[in-house]
Amino acid sequence: MAGNATERARIVIVGGGLEGLAIAWQLAERGESDVMVLERDTLCAGMTGKSSGIVRCHYGVPSLAAMAWYGVEVFTRAEEIFGTDIGFRQTGYIVGVDEDNLTPLHANVEMHRGLGVPVDLIDADTVRSLWPGIHLDDFAGFAYEPLGGHGDAYMTGMAYGTRARALGVRIRQSTDVVRLVSDELGGVRGVLCDDGTEILCDTVVLATGVWSPALASTVGVHLPIRAQREQLVLVDQGEPTPDVPTFSDLVNLQYIRREPNGHLLVGNSDHSAPEIADPDAYLNRATDGFVETAIGKLDRILPGMPDPRLASSYAGCYDITPDYNPIIGPSPVDGLFLAVGFSGHGFKISPAVGRLATDLLLDGISSDAAVDGNDFRYSRFDEGKPLVSLHPYAGAGEMR
Ligand SMILES: Cc1cc2nc3c(=O)[nH]c(=O)nc-3n(C[C@H](O)[C@H](O)[C@H](O)COP(=O)(O)OP(=O)(O)OC[C@H]3O[C@@H](n4cnc5c(N)ncnc54)[C@H](O)[C@@H]3O)c2cc1C
Repeated sequence: MAGNATERARIVIVGGGLEGLAIAWQLAERGESDVMVLERDTLCAGMTGKSSGIVRCHYGVPSLAAMAWYGVEVFTRAEEIFGTDIGFRQTGYIVGVDEDNLTPLHANVEMHRGLGVPVDLIDADTVRSLWPGIHLDDFAGFAYEPLGGHGDAYMTGMAYGTRARALGVRIRQSTDVVRLVSDELGGVRGVLCDDGTEILCDTVVLATGVWSPALASTVGVHLPIRAQREQLVLVDQGEPTPDVPTFSDLVNLQYIRREPNGHLLVGNSDHSAPEIADPDAYLNRATDGFVETAIGKLDRILPGMPDPRLASSYAGCYDITPDYNPIIGPSPVDGLFLAVGFSGHGFKISPAVGRLATDLLLDGISSDAAVDGNDFRYSRFDEGKPLVSLHPYAGAGEMR
C-alpha cells in the first residue's frame, strides 16, 4: 500500500476478527460491498483465535437468546452459505443447576421455547445416557438444547471473510489504524493508518474488541470496556472422551467441551472476582492454582477419569462491559458505529451481530422482531439501564 495516500470506501470496518468480518459479510450479502476491513495483524489473530466456541441459546436476555438462535441456524447451514465446513459440531448443550436455581432455569427454558428454540428439561438419568460416567450429585435440574454444541471461531471468521471478499469487500491485513479522523464538526470521516494512508468514508465501524477504548478515545468517545483475563485448560482424561454434549456446570461454575482429539477443554464461569488485564501483556497460560481448581472441579463430575493430566493451557481476554453485554449501534459521535464489548458471548451471536449491525447501518432498525436493536445502545450505561437477565442465576456470576 502506498504511504500518505487518500482512499475511499463507504464503510470502513476496523478489526478483522469475528465481529468485523461478520458485519462485512452481512453488509455484502445485502448488496453493500463498498466496504473495507482493516486489520493490523492477520484475520482472526485477536481474541477470536482464543474462543472456546460454545454454542447455546441459554441466555436470560431474550434478544441475546434470539441472536444465538439465529447463529445456530447459520452454523447449521454453513456448507450451503459459505461452501465450507466451519467447524460447527452439533453435540448438544446441557446446562446443570442446583436446587436454588431451578426457578430461573424453568423460566429461561419457557422464554427460549417462546423464541422457537428446541430445548428440554431433562433429568439426571437422561444426562447420564448422553454422558456415560458423569457424576451428578451436585445438580437438581438440567436443560438440554439438542441443536447446541461448539464451533471453531477461527474457521468461522475466515469463512465470513472469504464470503465477504467474494462479494467485493476489500480486506487489508497488516494495517494498523492509529486514529480516527474527524471533520471540523467533530464527526468521524475516516481513519489514519500507520503508513500514513488516510481512508475516508461515510461510516467507521469499530470492531476492535479489547483494543477498542484507545481508538474510540481518539475522537473523545469513552468506551466502558475492560479486558478480563480468562484461563483455559485442556485435559487428557487418560483415554479419549467420546462424543458428549457441551456442558455448562452452573454449580461449580465451569464449562466443558470435547476437543476434536478427545481431550476436554475446560473454561471458567466464575466471574465473582474478575482479573482485569492488559490485553497486550498478560500471562498466556493458566496458573498452577487455576489448573488445580479447574481439575478439582472437573474431578467432582468426572470422578472416573482414568489418568487425568494437563495437556496444555492458554489464556485470552473478554472485552467486558459493565453489564457483560455488547454495545452494537451508533456512538455519540456522528459517523462512528460500535460493535464492541462482547463479554465472552461473541462467537455464537456473531452471525446475528453481522445482521443487526447491517440492519442498523442500512435501515436504522433491526429486521428481527425478537432482537431489539435498542437493547445494545451505547447510552444504556449513562441512563442507568443496564441490559440484564430476566431470570438471573443466584451465584452464577454475570455471564447469563
Ligand atoms: C478465552 C475466550 C473464550 C471465549 N469463548 C466463547 C464461547 O465459548 N462462546 C462464545 O460465543 N464466545 C466466546 N468468546 C467470545 C468471542 O470469541 C469473542 O467475543 C469474539 O471472538 C470477539 O471478536 P471481535 O471481532 O470482537 O474481537 P477480536 O477477535 O479480538 O478482533 C479484533 C481485531 O481488531 C484488531 N485490531 C485491534 N486494534 C486495531 C487497530 N488499531 N487497527 C486495526 N486492527 C486492530 C485486532 O488485531 C483483532 O484482530 C470467548 C472469548 C475468549 C477470549
